[in-house]
Amino acid sequence: VNFSELNLHPALLQAIADAGYTTATTVQQQSIPAILEGRDLMVSSQTGSGKTAAFMLPAIHRLASAPKPSGKTPNQQRQSAMSQGQRPRFQPAQPKVLVLAPTRELALQVTAATEKYGAQLRFIKSVAILGGMPYPKQMQLLARNPQILVATPGRLIDHMESGKIDFSQLEMLVLDEADRMLDMGFIDDIERIVAATPATRQTLLFSATLDGMVGQMASRITRDPLVIRI
Ligand code: AMP
Repeated sequence: VNFSELNLHPALLQAIADAGYTTATTVQQQSIPAILEGRDLMVSSQTGSGKTAAFMLPAIHRLASAPKPSGKTPNQQRQSAMSQGQRPRFQPAQPKVLVLAPTRELALQVTAATEKYGAQLRFIKSVAILGGMPYPKQMQLLARNPQILVATPGRLIDHMESGKIDFSQLEMLVLDEADRMLDMGFIDDIERIVAATPATRQTLLFSATLDGMVGQMASRITRDPLVIRI
């Protein structure tokens, strides 16, 4: 299947061509149309299958197709408050897409892919929230109010609980390599993060396996999911 048949935003088709991709991989062919329809997904697929593009292309498509944000960013709100002599009020980031990943390396790969696919869309902002990164730097990144957050669960919980992130506007939650996140003991963190997101969100879970614990969690956090086994 050629990407041009997948009804993606022209700016994404350009980025795909620039990346040198010609045909969609199996996981992309099966996932992208269902994600664009708004369905929840449980996908068993391996690294190297093209799963990152399978969720990130439709995620960016959704953001690019929505009306452009007209409000001020938290930084702009702060600056305009200060210019009016008011004490600036802290504004939490309000992401629309959240990707949870087990490791720093994977989270950075996902943000790099997001930049590549969103290169033609200057208003698409993504930020990685990772353990081991200095807090002041992360606060600066969050103050840009990115639409896309990519995070490892532990560090995200810290920012969530100190009020730096508000998930009330979240439209899409992606769990990447969910089996590895469970192996690493992130189950409680994941449950707390999921509980802080709107029930109306779209949920996409990618995992090497959908058996056992990960399958049980997937069933709890998705609604009427399409199950794809590659
Ligand atoms: P992933 O499984 O998401 O880690 O992707 C593995 C690699 O495949 C990455 O380097 C991608 O840039 C590349 N890739 C993803 N989709 C395609 C495609 N449709 N055609 C060629 N390469 C791709």
